[in-house]
Formats: sequence, C-alpha cells, structure tokens
Amino acid sequence: FFITFEGIDGAGKSTHIEAFATTLAKQYPHKEVVLTREPGGTALGEKLRDLLLHHPMHLETEALLMFAARREHLATVIEPALSAGKIVISDRFTDASFAYQGGGRGLDLAKLYELEVWVQMRLKNDGVGQRYLLQPDLTFLFDLPSETAEARRSAVREPDKFEQLNTSFFENVRQEYLRRAKDDPARFRLIDASQTKEQIWNLLQETSITI
Ligand code: C5P
Repeated sequence: FFITFEGIDGAGKSTHIEAFATTLAKQYPHKEVVLTREPGGTALGEKLRDLLLHHPMHLETEALLMFAARREHLATVIEPALSAGKIVISDRFTDASFAYQGGGRGLDLAKLYELEVWVQMRLKNDGVGQRYLLQPDLTFLFDLPSETAEARRSAVREPDKFEQLNTSFFENVRQEYLRRAKDDPARFRLIDASQTKEQIWNLLQETSITI
C-alpha cells in the first residue's frame, strides 16, 4: 500500500508524517512501514536532491533530474517494499512534479506526463501484458493559502532555492495540486492545513484506511 503526503512548502506535512507512520505501524503490527521522501529516498536521490535544491539549472533539467531520482527511488526502495507487502509512505511523489515544475514553473504538463509514463508505466503480471501507471493508493494533500504558508516558512528556517520563490509561484503550485485532487477524488484526501496541529492530527487519525 502506497501513501504520499503533498502540499506547498510550509503546509506542515513533514510535521505529521512520522507520527502518522508510527500510528499505522501500531494499527498494522504485521506490516512493515517504510517512510521515505522525494526528492531523495536513496543515496543517489539525496545527492540529486542536494543539486536540485541548491544548484541553479534549466527548468527541463530540473524536471528530468526529479524523475531520474524518482526512477531510482521506485526501483530500489518503493517497488521492492510494495512487492514485499510493506506500507510505503513518501513525503512527496509525482504530484509534486506536476505542481512545482508544471503549475509553479510553467513547464508543459504534457511533457511531465510523458516523463510520468516513462518512469511509472508497468506491465501487469496477468499474462496478457496489460499496462498500468504505478500511482499512490492514497494521497494526503495539505492545503492552505500561499500567504499563510509563506509566513510559516519564514518563521522556521532558512529558505532553499524553491522556498525563495514568491507567493504567486506557490499559489500556482497550490492550484495545480487542487486541480489534481479534484480530478482524482478517490485517491486524494484534502487536509485544511490552516487548522492547528492538533486538529490536523485528529483528522489524520480519523481517516479510514483499508489496507
Ligand atoms: O518537501 P521538501 O520541503 O523536503 O521538498 C524540498 C524542496 O523541493 C521543496 O522546496 C519543494 O518545493 C521542492 N520540490 C520541487 N519539485 C518537486 C519536489 C520538491 O520543486 N517535484
């Protein structure tokens, strides 16, 4: 079972993800829970993350490196864990590429979709060779106005390359996330991230997950 946490920087997803993983591990004691993140999640992915967050580069290079890191992440961490019946929780996945490189930076969504197909298309083991797109089973989208997120970000840490971008960039990222959530309501759970930590935590606990 594959769960992802998404949202604009400052939405607070990373605050909750570890506690959520611990709760799931208690709820499903016979299942191992793997907590990972993007960009990153592997030794190579973490090196690419460092480049992506601190090195200026062309927009398409950025998208290609995000997907390169994702390919490695899928091949060496996510897919082996899913095949072994583990629960995988990732702090960001492909929705972030559509939201940041597409919505935020303005890269053609069709190009991102090509990369998604390239990296995530799999053959079903059904003897017929049917194809499917490997996607999360469940995605929590932490949503809040970009101004609120910006205020939260500047209160906690030095900004990375992306976090230095302006509020309208983040509003575009947010809108692309919302559009995707609207297109796929079966997968997305929208969390109003302007609530307090306690309220958000209660919401996460209440979400019924059938694994
Ligand atoms: O989630 P986290 O804050 O660790 O992400 C690191 C940075 O990478 C963030 O500033 C996020 O905006 C950026 N990012 C991105 N495109 C992605 C994934 C993350 O621009 N596909």
